[in-house]
Amino acid sequence: MTIHAATALAACSRSLYQRGWMPGTSGNLSVRLPEGLALVTASGRDKGELTAADTVLVDDRNGVPLDPDGPRASAETGIHAAVYRTTDAGAVIHVHPPYATAIACRSGGGAPLRLERFELLKGLGLADPSRTELPVFRNWPEVPRIADEIAAHLAATPDAPPGLLIAGHGITTWGADLAQARNRLECLEAICQLLVLGVEPTERPIG
Ligand SMILES: [Zn+2]
Repeated sequence: MTIHAATALAACSRSLYQRGWMPGTSGNLSVRLPEGLALVTASGRDKGELTAADTVLVDDRNGVPLDPDGPRASAETGIHAAVYRTTDAGAVIHVHPPYATAIACRSGGGAPLRLERFELLKGLGLADPSRTELPVFRNWPEVPRIADEIAAHLAATPDAPPGLLIAGHGITTWGADLAQARNRLECLEAICQLLVLGVEPTERPIG
């Protein structure tokens, strides 16, 4: 189970790196395992060369590694744990793709990003796929503070979309498994690309 999850994490990481969404050692991925555990990518590793050995077993509620003498978990593991504490996510992806990051850099954080009528909202599994509000969190220097704000928001917002931005930083998405988290990431990145291009979907049907 764990080795299968580790292999899947490494493969997903390498392919997101190849897309240019995990420059250098940035970004981190995790999958939830049974019995209150999660497997997360290790800190400081080149994401284009990640292997199953570059993953760390952590407590899924707080992100603390099971083996204190093993490799360090990503510095942003607390954000993954915040999502696992407050949703039924089975996998979380945090990356810095160009368009979502550009949108995140335009925001100071606090006010959500209102998304309406984008066709790709249908890829997010929303109860109402015609609109959603993507939260934008402040990029506090202390990751636990960001994680606490994310957990508080998700706990209070059961219909929140399966993704969020951190101002000036990047995007986090989640789903039942890595494939779904990645699909949702692709949909949100594509929507952010349209926003950067200045596209506002109109209400009128075309033709
Ligand atoms: Zn980051």
